[in-house]
Amino acid sequence: MAGIVVVFDFDKTIIDCDSDNWVVDELGFTDLFNQLLPTMPWNSLMDTMMKEIHAKGKTIGDIVEVLKRTPIHPRIVQAVKSAHALGCELRIVSDANMFFIETILEHLGLKEYFSEINSNPGFVNEEGRLRIFPYHDFTKCSHGCNLNLCPPNMCKGMIVERIQACLEGKKRMIYLGDGIGDYCPTLRLGKNDYVMPRKNFPVWDLICRNSMLVKAEIHEWSDGEELERVLLKLISMVSVDPQLYSVDCKPQTFSASNYPLPKSLLVPH
Ligand SMILES: [Mg+2]
Ligand SMILES: [Zn+2]
Repeated sequence: MAGIVVVFDFDKTIIDCDSDNWVVDELGFTDLFNQLLPTMPWNSLMDTMMKEIHAKGKTIGDIVEVLKRTPIHPRIVQAVKSAHALGCELRIVSDANMFFIETILEHLGLKEYFSEINSNPGFVNEEGRLRIFPYHDFTKCSHGCNLNLCPPNMCKGMIVERIQACLEGKKRMIYLGDGIGDYCPTLRLGKNDYVMPRKNFPVWDLICRNSMLVKAEIHEWSDGEELERVLLKLISMVSVDPQLYSVDCKPQTFSASNYPLPKSLLVPH
């Protein structure tokens, strides 16, 4: 085993769009979505949208057909398979929902590669309508994260902390994401971990604002091809000599890797 847990965000990280927007837009409900967006939290809005979409005669079959057409960079599919083949444990932490994620992963033949998917519950009810519920029930109490960047229904940082507690420091983590919600888990990574923010996306902006707040090594990526290259490089470096990377000093050879490391994003330890 590689001794590595790779934690992926889903929207705009594994797939190349936001699955919620993709389904709403493809089914022709963008205007209603934009109209309702200021009135309720995103997670509640998606449940409401599924109610409206169902009321207008769209079936679960229609939603599944749209999900199967979700754009994804082909190298991401390969990156997931390669990371798994190299012995990494793969998990997903996403503010989309279980129904969208599982439908897309099954269609791509990727579901079996992930040992855990953390997302908002989503299931089809007896009327054939998709219901979407919050991962954390914020109507009862707050999840308690005081970062102010996490949505009320999910703090990804707390999920990552739970995963870290199970690992007991025995495995390194590589976290990949693009959104504001991926900043909280980024701050909880340790100095032996890695974060892969998508370049020019919100989490990358937040990290760039003060990269000294991030203890993990930062490695940006722009598209599926770069994600695959950077991820597999990190996995192979840790796997080849895990001892080398568990010591406090950083090996000199690191910056001589064969992909460009942005100087502003390489945090000295
Ligand atoms: Mg995302
Ligand atoms: Zn948080």
